[in-house]
Amino acid sequence: MGAMAKLAHRVIVTHQLPEEWIADLRDNCNALVGPPTSEVAGLSAELQRHLPSADGLLTLLTVKVDAELLKKAQNLRVVSQMAVGVDNIDLNACTQRGIPVGHTPGVLTDATADLAMLLLLAASRRLLETNRDAREGRWGTWQPERWLGADLAGKTLGIVGMGAIGQATARRAKAFGMNIIYTNRSPKPAAEREFDATRLKLDELLTVSDFVSLHTPLSAETRHLIDAAALAQMKPTAILINTARGPVVDTDALVAALRAGQIRAAGLDVTDPEPLPPNHALWSLDNCVIAPHIGSATENTRRKMAQLAVTNLLAGLRGERLPHCANPTVYEK
Ligand code: NAP
Repeated sequence: MGAMAKLAHRVIVTHQLPEEWIADLRDNCNALVGPPTSEVAGLSAELQRHLPSADGLLTLLTVKVDAELLKKAQNLRVVSQMAVGVDNIDLNACTQRGIPVGHTPGVLTDATADLAMLLLLAASRRLLETNRDAREGRWGTWQPERWLGADLAGKTLGIVGMGAIGQATARRAKAFGMNIIYTNRSPKPAAEREFDATRLKLDELLTVSDFVSLHTPLSAETRHLIDAAALAQMKPTAILINTARGPVVDTDALVAALRAGQIRAAGLDVTDPEPLPPNHALWSLDNCVIAPHIGSATENTRRKMAQLAVTNLLAGLRGERLPHCANPTVYEK
């Protein structure tokens, strides 16, 4: 089908995005764009009033797309999320309504794997803690036994969720001389060959890994996958990295494990809750490196995510199959 007649489709973009990123949407639709994320995290009251007439919704992971929202949006034909994870969206409710949900895999894989590696290095070499000591006047003379961290070469990295980002992280870790093991819902033979990696059950992986890096989506099965019992299985010298979603880890159990030295350190790009309040116990721990959910935050990556979200949305409005659909069973109906 050719270009859509402008104004034919009414689209809600939940939050402000740079105009250059959503130019295709502006060209093809009547787009109502919400406030900056700094003003409202969810769907603004103003946009909620426009839900009944919306054909399409371009959303961020801070907006809950649940049965209640869908009920108000009776005309909705496509939801497009500017993220790969869609845990904020009730996929079943969308599928039942015949609404395809777009997401943005692939374009953020390298940036997120870079961040996982950054956290792994920062946590193992105590970057933030030592930087703070030095800034605050506690540098002193070079001391042979001070600020010692953990090596990477020859150590074992356990990847939990060997999908796109898990594999990109394994690829980076291999270049640092690490050995790779993994756990995943289904076997990943290509990854096993590329990384000389063995698939283990989670319990086994936790007991033998020097580093554990989480890369599963957040789902009913993965919520609190790393709980007190899982942390207790890890080596006291192990380091946990989470760039997946905060609730994959039981935060209270992690605080207790880090305090007690049950594991050596953690590097987190995602937390539960988000944002993490300034008085949260995790901030008080020297052995916890925290980034504020910046896995995909590079200029190129965020632009590509927005453009892919627009591509998905326009395909849905045209009645075409979404290039990247998070609920493909919607097409079986
Ligand atoms: P992906 O390619 O779909 O990989 C997810 C992997 O997890 C798949 O291999 C999948 O196995 C596996 N998996 C799913 N459920 C599982 C379970 N219950 N137990 C074990 N393995 C399970 O997705 P991706 O692009 O790598 O992204 C992964 C996640 O990273 C996203 O869902 C998102 O939440 C998070 N993320 C975070 C950031 C950030 O800013 N920090 C950025 C991007 C993504 P199967 O192949 O068998 O289904």
